[in-house]
Amino acid sequence: MLFRNFLTVFASKRLTKLVTFTSVIPRYQAMSTVNQAQIKHCLSNDEIVKSEGDDREYRALELTNGMRVFLISDPNTDKSSAAMDVYVGHMKDPKDIPGLAHFCEHMLFLGTKKYPEENEYTKFLNEHAGASNAFTSNEHTNYFFDVGPEYLNGALDRFAQFFLEPLFTATATEREINAVNSENDKNLQNDSWRIYQLEKSLSNPSHDYNKFGTGNKHTLETRSKQLGYDVREELLKFHDQYYSANLMSLTILGKENLDQLSEMVVPLFSGVDNLDLSIPEWTEHPYGPEQLGNMCYVTPVKDIRNLNITWSIPDLHNYYKTNPGHYLGHLIGHEGKGSLLSELKARGWVNTLAGGQQAGARGFMFFIVNVDLTEEGLEHVDDIITLTYQYLNMLKNEGPREWIFKECADLGRMQFRFKDKERPRSYTSAISGILQDYPMNEVLCAHYLQTDYKPELITMVLDKLLPSKMRVSVIAKKFEGQTDKKEEWYGTDYNIKKIPDEKIKMWETCGVSDKLSLPEINEFIPTNFELVPRETEQSSVPRMIKDSGMARLWFKQDNTFKLPKAFANFELTSPLAYLDPLHANMAVMFVQLFKDALNEYAYNAEIAGLKYNFNSTAYGVALSVKGYNDKLDVLLMRVLEKMVTFEIDPKRYDIIKELYGRSLRNFDAEQPHQHAVYFTNVVMSEQLWTQEELLDSLQEVSLEKLKLFIPQLFSKMYIEGLVYGNVTRKSSLAMCEMLEGILREKVGTRELLPSQRRRLREIQLPDGCYYVYQKTNGVHKSSSIEIYYQVGQQKTNTNMLLELFVQIISEPCFNVLRTKEQLGYIVFSGIRRQSGVQGLRVIVQSDKPPQYVEGRIEAFLDSMKETLKDMKEEEFQKHVSALSIKRLEKPKKMSTEYANYTSEIVSQQYNFDRDNVEVSFLKTVTKDDLFNFYQDNIAESAPRRHKLSVHILSTAPKPQGDGDATDTAAATDTTAADNSEEAGTLLQPTIVEDVNAFKRDMGLFPLAKPYIDLQKALSKL
Ligand SMILES: [Zn+2]
Repeated sequence: MLFRNFLTVFASKRLTKLVTFTSVIPRYQAMSTVNQAQIKHCLSNDEIVKSEGDDREYRALELTNGMRVFLISDPNTDKSSAAMDVYVGHMKDPKDIPGLAHFCEHMLFLGTKKYPEENEYTKFLNEHAGASNAFTSNEHTNYFFDVGPEYLNGALDRFAQFFLEPLFTATATEREINAVNSENDKNLQNDSWRIYQLEKSLSNPSHDYNKFGTGNKHTLETRSKQLGYDVREELLKFHDQYYSANLMSLTILGKENLDQLSEMVVPLFSGVDNLDLSIPEWTEHPYGPEQLGNMCYVTPVKDIRNLNITWSIPDLHNYYKTNPGHYLGHLIGHEGKGSLLSELKARGWVNTLAGGQQAGARGFMFFIVNVDLTEEGLEHVDDIITLTYQYLNMLKNEGPREWIFKECADLGRMQFRFKDKERPRSYTSAISGILQDYPMNEVLCAHYLQTDYKPELITMVLDKLLPSKMRVSVIAKKFEGQTDKKEEWYGTDYNIKKIPDEKIKMWETCGVSDKLSLPEINEFIPTNFELVPRETEQSSVPRMIKDSGMARLWFKQDNTFKLPKAFANFELTSPLAYLDPLHANMAVMFVQLFKDALNEYAYNAEIAGLKYNFNSTAYGVALSVKGYNDKLDVLLMRVLEKMVTFEIDPKRYDIIKELYGRSLRNFDAEQPHQHAVYFTNVVMSEQLWTQEELLDSLQEVSLEKLKLFIPQLFSKMYIEGLVYGNVTRKSSLAMCEMLEGILREKVGTRELLPSQRRRLREIQLPDGCYYVYQKTNGVHKSSSIEIYYQVGQQKTNTNMLLELFVQIISEPCFNVLRTKEQLGYIVFSGIRRQSGVQGLRVIVQSDKPPQYVEGRIEAFLDSMKETLKDMKEEEFQKHVSALSIKRLEKPKKMSTEYANYTSEIVSQQYNFDRDNVEVSFLKTVTKDDLFNFYQDNIAESAPRRHKLSVHILSTAPKPQGDGDATDTAAATDTTAADNSEEAGTLLQPTIVEDVNAFKRDMGLFPLAKPYIDLQKALSKL
């Protein structure tokens, strides 16, 4: 694939380069009471390039203090939002205190001079349907929030103080280091983070790119103290030194008009100091001659095998109108006929490939080709590199092609023209980052539009991709015991060698391969963007339009988004797919082999904005297609035809089976909190084949059995589907009939008996119970816990009581368990819903023992009794209204609306108008109702309390020799011991020793009743 982005949290922006304003016409007269002296430049709505269907209004300002401000007025918005991007990231950390920029990001949330309460900002947002987050990357720190549209002003005032007068109180500073430390602990055994940091650590040691950005207790406390720093002082200094208005970009989205937004924002942010700093830039590349030409062998935590090739390239951001990196990424990352991936797969060496430009920071970039390796591929690393250079040589011989550039440009223009409306919070966050680097009039389109074909730029980049200018990393368990170096921050074992000159020479002279060629013209690019004729009978929710013994179809024509896109999902039920672990494995293998075989064909569709998906589920298989509706039915037909004539390639069978086996084994190295969630499912569901059971039975799978299984799977089926979007009733029926027809005619599929359309149910915990299920995790340092308080079947009233309860406790839960008690970085409270049954769940990942954490969670929930009892009616109503706003927030994207409908169909609840139905009930809920709900279900003495607690205890060896890690472990042990009494006296739990025996004793909940009258829906057909 074309490589686009990497780690989510430290996600670096795709493009970063400041371009100063072009063609700026001041429009002061447009504004009313704003002090014009505070504004340097202004761009009006007409001057900003926007998407055709975009009905939002925009204005861009540069304040006198140098801050760029982008205003978005959307009178119909159901959420307002703001984001601030500061052009400083962890590359600016002081050398002695890694993690300071990131720590500063955490600390800004915890109190300002005007609003000294630690949780004031998050509390205000939570009470007004809002939420917030922030991230720190190499060179940016980005803060963002959303809130109910009436409360933008109040939220902004709190937000602005981050940049005016943060407190960094001594007590919060001391405590919050633990949250950062826990955040880092979470990443320590994660291969993506380990390899990301290793690449940094192996760059030029004197370059800022070499730094460790997350920070931990050692760097922020222990060592910095030893070196004589007071970290609070350093935070203040850092903020003073870099939080300069001219390095900040602010984006605001609200329902107010542009003048009102200006009035709100300009006075508030004009007070931010301008230090007139120049934007940080690194003209030297972090990989100098010393670092290039190296081959690095890395031992991973999980059983993964990868080959990463990295070249140093210059910063290409100035060339965004040509985007030469994108052109080359499109070709090297291509997966169609003649592509590098196709040939590597044909030789049995790899399964996936990502290639393209990768952001570094202002001044330098990377170009990468990353592949995973099969067992055989690992033995052919040099040959894979040879093929990569043969592909690059082919590109050089062919030279840049204008038609390929045009194809990419057309797709970009199409994406921009028909793009979905973004959710306010992700929109403002993204724009505030983009605003730092592009002319203000192109902020909305810069990432989409390529207008200038300049072949010389493409050649310039291509010429940098040389054997002598690359670094190579090979990652595999095979290197265990053969490494002699350890990365400082993550402890990653590795080995590094200079690539011998002969090899470099070999790659320099490797010529071309006749298997590799430029892609063919993409036939999937849509040409018809017309909206289909409107149905005479309009409906606000999906309607059943077909119900035969074999298939039921729901249909909804879109009348809201009016985009030329459609979505279809078909669930093909077959009890064979999940009959036992063997069959479950075969269903997975079939699906993966099929997708693997179809990849070359479907890739062109995918880059043209048409995607299919095929998955195995506990009930059968699910097939879906989505994208521009023009050629969607063609894609569906081709996929179906290939599915019913599918023949397994024995070579790919071996490779996919090995890959699947590894993915099952690698589950052991997942995060403790993911284990807690998974084992809660294992205990609570009627039937779930565990990773262990699947792995055990994988050896029973053979090519012969799998070949026999596929026709059996298709022999009897029931189909339930939804077609949604720019489609007609007629075309939707035709899609369903095509599916049914192909199955009946080509593989002789017959109807499944209604009694075979079973759904799995959830275990019913008895009143007053308290069960504990314990497991260990030997990979991660942290332990974790999920407590599940089962409430019962999903019904409108309990749905709302539970959601309202969660709305009220979520902020204090975070504030108490994370900010105050510092149990760990991951603290979550929410609802668990499965098989039509629901309850409250609290999840914490902590370096403290689960039993201790459980005591703290119980103590917190117990404190909610007083909170609820003492709550003023006014505050209660705030929460009711916050939840209503959240629930009534309209889907911004077609895919969201489609996902909502699909989940109603898959869960067989069919409550398509759920938000309105439930919110109108919510408005009748009283404080007493909620208190009674708590007393009845959650309180420790509640008669209908049903508690299951899943403990994941870390058994990972605590690393020795690292001062920080030892300190932390020791401190943890004492804290736990000291606090064991404080943890309170828990009731004596019943330990679940044997899950099967446990389940045998338990009843099952009935399935949720369909919300609509299916008989009535049938009678309308
Ligand atoms: Zn963080």
